[in-house]
Amino acid sequence: MEIKILDLHLKGALRNLRDSTNSNKGVVAACLISLPTRWVYATSERTDEGKYVHAERNALSKYLREYGDPLPNSVMITSISPCKYESKSRAGCSCIDLLLGKDKDFKDYGIRRLHAGILDNNSRNLVSYSDLGFDISVSEKPSIELACSNLREYFNPEIRGKVNIQEFIENALKGNGQIKAI
Ligand SMILES: [Zn+2]
Repeated sequence: MEIKILDLHLKGALRNLRDSTNSNKGVVAACLISLPTRWVYATSERTDEGKYVHAERNALSKYLREYGDPLPNSVMITSISPCKYESKSRAGCSCIDLLLGKDKDFKDYGIRRLHAGILDNNSRNLVSYSDLGFDISVSEKPSIELACSNLREYFNPEIRGKVNIQEFIENALKGNGQIKAI
């Protein structure tokens, strides 16, 4: 699928994040798409236990409910590239292990194509995607990159917990005064 189309859906996923009325939503947006006519948008989400269901997991679950098994040419689109590391705050395994079928509740659906607004360059995430069998592209649009970088700021403990999440997301998607993001 062309990068232009993937970026359009990344924008759609970001708007869905902004417009979602789920009071438990996080700040990551995802879209799982397998055909020009078949896709779902999802967000990360805080559970009652205080853990986070990542947006990729929510997207895959939603896709399975709506369409059944994703086709092998599907693309997982995310505002920030999928996690590969151990995390105590996450519900379930890493999103890469999830896509590789290592979670007991999911199969390996052959999803190996990723598209992201920005790369998660967290020091815990440095193993390359290609070494794990994935092909990843990043957004070609500065406006999307800006919105996704703004959203990433939420992971800074100085910011998280001190802001209203809905206002934070709306501001992140507005850009920086020079570039209108989304
Ligand atoms: Zn993840």
